Amino acid sequence: MRTPIIAGNWKMNKTIAEAAGLVRDLVDVLQEIKNVETVLCPPFTALPTVAGLVRTTGIRVGAQDMHWEDQGAFTGAISPLMIREVATHVIVGHSERRQYFGETDQSVNRKAKAAFKHGLIPIVCVGENLAQNETGQTNEVVTGQVRAALQDLAASQVATLIVAYEPVWAIGTGKAATGPGANAVIGPMIRGTIASLVGEATASQVRIQYGGSVTPDNIGEFMSQPDIDGALVGGASLVATKFSSIVRQSAEIKGARR
Ligand code: PEP
Repeated sequence: MRTPIIAGNWKMNKTIAEAAGLVRDLVDVLQEIKNVETVLCPPFTALPTVAGLVRTTGIRVGAQDMHWEDQGAFTGAISPLMIREVATHVIVGHSERRQYFGETDQSVNRKAKAAFKHGLIPIVCVGENLAQNETGQTNEVVTGQVRAALQDLAASQVATLIVAYEPVWAIGTGKAATGPGANAVIGPMIRGTIASLVGEATASQVRIQYGGSVTPDNIGEFMSQPDIDGALVGGASLVATKFSSIVRQSAEIKGARR
């Protein structure tokens, strides 16, 4: 049985003081919820503070991006060696990085490999945009992104990574996918592609999240699907009551089955 995992992507929000306040509002509540992993992904500047505040809890910390090189002349970039001092997870290939910062399937693959080289768990984001969705290209786009991101990874690495299926048209729009619609991509397409790459046994261990306008009102629909193991939450992760409600409902629906 796959342990559910809920990650909060804070994006470019929260000063250090604000981040500390949000974590303080979350810690006690989240610690009471069993059988769900939670990962908080603040901006780089708040990573050390958040990491310090959750150190004695089971809550994990993730970065929102990283460079694949260990160090060097890459002004503005952060390396896996730096991230691993404060985080266990790293989001790679988020659609906003692909759209605004030139992230490609190849750089996503480099980052996933670099994450494993340094003991970080990548949360690999894939998803089709609106035009691709409307022209029936979803399956082709998503399976292509999965294949590229996982290229040359060992089965043992694939087993531990997390995939986030985030249809771009659902991110920050308030227009979430439906549970069955997301499961139809996550199960046959994403898990199916992973099975074709590394075998059914490994694919059945991989945790796959849905992301895109997840709220306390719709998380139940997603977590009730057989192939959806969690959520990558943007906007709702910035509000302690909303994020903790999403985690609690996920525990009630899936955590209890463990
Ligand atoms: C995200 O940032 O990955 C995301 C899914 O955002 P939102 O939940 O706000 O749609």
